[in-house]
Amino acid sequence: MRTTDKLYYLDQYLYQTEARIATLHAEAIELDRTVAFPEGGGQEADIGTIETPVGTFRFIWTKRLYGTPLSIEGFTGAKVGGVILHLVHPDDIDRLGALEVDMPVTITIDVERRARLTLSHTASHFLYAAALAHQSELKRLTIGCHIKEDAARFDFLVETPFNAEDVSAIQAEANRLMADNLPIITDHLPEHIDARFWQYGDLYIPCGGTHLETPDAVGPLQVRRKNIGKSKERLLCSFDQAHIDTSAYRVDTERHVETAS
Ligand SMILES: [Zn+2]
Repeated sequence: MRTTDKLYYLDQYLYQTEARIATLHAEAIELDRTVAFPEGGGQEADIGTIETPVGTFRFIWTKRLYGTPLSIEGFTGAKVGGVILHLVHPDDIDRLGALEVDMPVTITIDVERRARLTLSHTASHFLYAAALAHQSELKRLTIGCHIKEDAARFDFLVETPFNAEDVSAIQAEANRLMADNLPIITDHLPEHIDARFWQYGDLYIPCGGTHLETPDAVGPLQVRRKNIGKSKERLLCSFDQAHIDTSAYRVDTERHVETAS
């Protein structure tokens, strides 16, 4: 079965690599390997460019298709294998016909956006952990999450709307957790590279997203609530003093190869 090597799992700081075209789709390019993180677990997708022998193509979204669900307890959403599609900018689609399978390319992601999504995703874990610490039943009432560059949010199905005291207690708890500035561990179970998790002190959540190594760059977290319909409450966090740092990102010069362990 065809799969794409997911270099972002081997090293989340790779922003560019050489690859080959694996398959051409009507509006997307599939490579044999990629550094572009697909939309998943609420985190928005990477965007960027693919330089080819016949010109540069912009991609405006990345998504993962297929894959087999992992049968490991607690990792119900995780999948093995699958392919990664880079959705081509509408203005570049008419040039897709000039591409051929096996052509060498260089793929580069928008590293500023990735750094922002990584910070936002990290912040979202503290918002969620603080919300659950405040009201543990929120875990089973969670109906969605969305992680954007400048904010992250979780939606809950609750009978009683959050009040100002709830919001301020959750914000205080999130900031208290981050103030410890412990190391954040992003890793996978020894059984499988796709069984990924986030860990911070005693907090542990299965998660395949990208994260900072410590929370300090997030700065103070601001939490708000919003009613988004009958019994639906949203908690949002933003971080207007965040420090975005792309200095750790680098080109893949070692030709990483994914070896599913
Ligand atoms: Zn995560």
